[in-house]
Amino acid sequence: MQLRGQSLIGFVESSRNGTSFRAMNPATGQEIAPDFHSAEAVDVDRAARMAQSAFRLYSRWSGKQRARLLTEIASAIEALGPELIERTSLETALGHDRLKGELARTCNQLRLFASLVEEGSWVNARIDQAGPDRKPAPKPDIRSILRPIGPVVVFGASNFPLAFSVAGGDTASALAAGNPVIVKAHPAHPGASEMVGRAIVDASRAAGAPDGIFSLLFDSGTEVGRALVQHPAIKAGGFTGSHAGGRALMNLAAARPDPIPFFAEMSSTNPVFVLPCAAAERPDQIAAGLYSSVTLGAGQFCTKPGLVLLGPDKSAEQLSTKLTELMSAASDQILLTAGICKSYERGVEQRAELQRVASSGSTNSGFRALSTLFETELDSLMSDPHLAEELFGPSTLIVRYDDRTELLRFAERLEGHLTATVHGTDQDLREFADLIEVLETKVGRLVFNGYPTGVEVCHAMVHGGPYPSTSDARFTSVGTQAILRFARPVCFQNFPDAALPPELQNGNPLAIWRTVNGHLSREALS
Ligand code: NAP
Repeated sequence: MQLRGQSLIGFVESSRNGTSFRAMNPATGQEIAPDFHSAEAVDVDRAARMAQSAFRLYSRWSGKQRARLLTEIASAIEALGPELIERTSLETALGHDRLKGELARTCNQLRLFASLVEEGSWVNARIDQAGPDRKPAPKPDIRSILRPIGPVVVFGASNFPLAFSVAGGDTASALAAGNPVIVKAHPAHPGASEMVGRAIVDASRAAGAPDGIFSLLFDSGTEVGRALVQHPAIKAGGFTGSHAGGRALMNLAAARPDPIPFFAEMSSTNPVFVLPCAAAERPDQIAAGLYSSVTLGAGQFCTKPGLVLLGPDKSAEQLSTKLTELMSAASDQILLTAGICKSYERGVEQRAELQRVASSGSTNSGFRALSTLFETELDSLMSDPHLAEELFGPSTLIVRYDDRTELLRFAERLEGHLTATVHGTDQDLREFADLIEVLETKVGRLVFNGYPTGVEVCHAMVHGGPYPSTSDARFTSVGTQAILRFARPVCFQNFPDAALPPELQNGNPLAIWRTVNGHLSREALS
C-alpha cells in the first residue's frame, strides 16, 4: 500500500497540507518517509459532524449488521499481512513475531466483539411487566436496554501499535456498541495507523456503513486530540497512554459545558508480592519469570512488574541474586520513541538514592536504554512514594520488607494499579489472607503464581483498576465487558410492543437472554 500521509475524514482523505512530521526508526533514530500531515481545526470539525450524522443511522444497525462490519474489518486488516508487520516493525523496533501475535490478537478481538453483538444479550434487556391491579397505584410496564452513547474519540498508545491503536480494543468495543469512532493516530506509528485506517474504511464501505462511521486524524502534537475531546458532537473518549496525557484529557472532558465520560487507561507499577514459602520453594524459577516479564517488549507494558516485594529470609536473597544475574546479562533494549527513552533515562537518574544492583546493555544508537535493577528497603520506599511510580522501560525495583506488619501497612497505602501479583503456597495464602483482601481494593486483576504481562482477551478479563491506573475503576478496557463503556441505559415506560426495540418486544424475536420480572429467561412473553 502506498502511504499518503493524509488524515481520513470519513471515507475520503483530507486534501490539506498541515504541518508535517515523519515516523522515526527507534533502532537508528533516523526519520522514515513519507511525510504525514497534521489535521487542522476544519478536519476535526468535519470528522466530528460526519460522525454525528453517521450515528443516527449506525446506532440503529442490528447486532448482525455490526458483527458483519467488525468481521470485515478483521479480514481487511489480516489481508494487509506482511506489509503491515514490516512497516509497524520499522516504526516501533518491535520484532515480527511479537507483531504477528499482536495482529492476531487485534483481529481475534474484533471477531470476539462481533460474536458478542451478533448473539445480542450484552444489551442487558430488562423487562418489568405492568401490574394494572396493583394498589394503591397500578404498576407501569418498564423495559430497559443499553443503547450506544454517540461518537467516540479514541487515543491509542505507542506500545501496542495494533492491539491498542487504530483498530484496537477501544475502537472495536465502541463500534460494536453502535458508535462511530474518530481515532487520533499515535505519531509514533503513523504508517501502521494509515494502513489499518484504510482497511477500516474499505471494510466499512463493503459492509454498507454510513460515511463518517470512522475517521483517522494525524497530529504530531496535542491540538487535534484536545479539540476532539472538546467537540460538542463527541460523546465519549477512550484513551490508552501516559498518566500525564490521560489526566490532561480527562480534565478537558470534565470541563466541557456538557461533560462526557472519558475512559483513560494509564500507568501502573503492578506490585509483585513474593511470600516466604513460595520464595523458599522456587527462588530461581520466580526470578527467571520476573526477568522475562520485566524485559518483555523492552519493559514497555502497562502491566510490567515494577515493584517486587521480598522478605528478609535467605531464599529471598537467593531470588534477588538470581534476578540481578539475569538483569546484568540482559541484551540491548530499544525503546519506542525519543520521548520514552528520555523519560526512562530521567527516571533512572531520579532514582539515584536507590541501590542500582544491575545495569546492562548499550545506548550506542537509536533509542537504546540500559536494563536496570534497583533495590531498596521498604521503609525508604514508604518515605518517598514517588519511587514507586511507573518507570516505563526495562527496569524493576526489588523492595525488601522486614515483616508482615510492615508489608500490610505498605499494601494499605498503595495507590490504584492495574494488577497485583502474589507468589505463594497454600500456607502463604492462609498466613497472608489479609494482604489479599487489601490488594483486592487496590487493583483490577489479581494474579496468582504467574506474571502480570499478557492480558487475555476474553469475557471475564478486567484490565482496569482504581485511579491513577485508570479514570474509572468500574470498567475494563480489555475483554467483552469493555463495550459497557460506550453504551448507556435507556428505559421505555408503557410503550406499545411494536414501538419497542426488538430486544424488548414480547416475542423476543432475537432470542436473547433477558431479565424478566427479576429472572433470567429467553422465553417469549404472551
Ligand atoms: P502518551 O504519550 O500519553 O500518548 C498516548 C496518546 O495520547 C498519543 O496520541 C498522544 O499524542 C496523546 N496525548 C498525550 N498527551 C496528550 C495531551 N496532553 N493532550 C492531548 N493528547 C495527548 O502515551 P505513550 O507514551 O504512547 O504510551 C505509554 C504509556 O501508556 C505508558 O505509561 C503505559 O503504561 C501506558 N499504557 C497503558 C495501558 C493500559 O491499558 N492502561 C496500555 C498500554 C500503555 P501525542 O503523542 O501527539 O502527544
